[in-house]
Amino acid sequence: MKLTVLGCYGGYPTNNTGTSSYLLESDDFHLLIDAGSYSLLTLENHLDPLELDAVLLSHYHHDHIADLGVLQFTRLLKRDKHGNKASLLPIYSHDEDEIHFKQMTFENVSEGIAYNHDEKTTIGPFVIQHMKTLHPVPCFALKITERSSGKVLVFTADSGFLEEFNAFSEAADCLLADSNFYKGMENHSVHMSSKECGSIARKAKVKKLILTHLPQEGNLDDLVQEAKEETVDTEVLLAKKDTHYYI
Ligand SMILES: [Zn+2]
Ligand SMILES: [Zn+2]
Repeated sequence: MKLTVLGCYGGYPTNNTGTSSYLLESDDFHLLIDAGSYSLLTLENHLDPLELDAVLLSHYHHDHIADLGVLQFTRLLKRDKHGNKASLLPIYSHDEDEIHFKQMTFENVSEGIAYNHDEKTTIGPFVIQHMKTLHPVPCFALKITERSSGKVLVFTADSGFLEEFNAFSEAADCLLADSNFYKGMENHSVHMSSKECGSIARKAKVKKLILTHLPQEGNLDDLVQEAKEETVDTEVLLAKKDTHYYI
């Protein structure tokens, strides 16, 4: 499967780069994971938004859903080169926030589908498992298995450190982790530090760690170095807009 970073900042966009959003592709299936600010424009560098097959959301904070409304408008108003309207877009999300969940459904444009976090969810070529995170609002980490290859991507979504991440990420081919903080900010109740991400990668024997939900301040290469200090055989990378990662 191919992961493309569309936005990688936490909280707010800056320097021509948006907030949390990723395109995951397999077998010609195009899944958008979170839809942060500026993600729709960045998506156009890779794919016509009409070609998206599904959307999967971790939670309803602005930096993860800011472009969802304009994505719905795009699918309402835009026509493809043959003059055809987009198909109904399934948006998989949790329904622990009723007001936001209702907004996922937009007549003839999109349909909200609640995932049950105790059960697996199948979306095209992917099977998804969910884990509730440590965050001020209900938020779910996503373990995404490509059915054809068995390859696994774990996305921590937004979370403070939880021991459960070690088991949830076990032997993942790629861990896309919330590293909003530099080392020294461990045990925060909203986000993780580079050190904590590295620690999960080591304990879970993760092959590739991609640090994301990045801070706007400081030297981001320090995050990589701090995570590397914790890891043994894991490749550690920074999420970068418009970059492809093959899993
Ligand atoms: Zn966030
Ligand atoms: Zn959040």
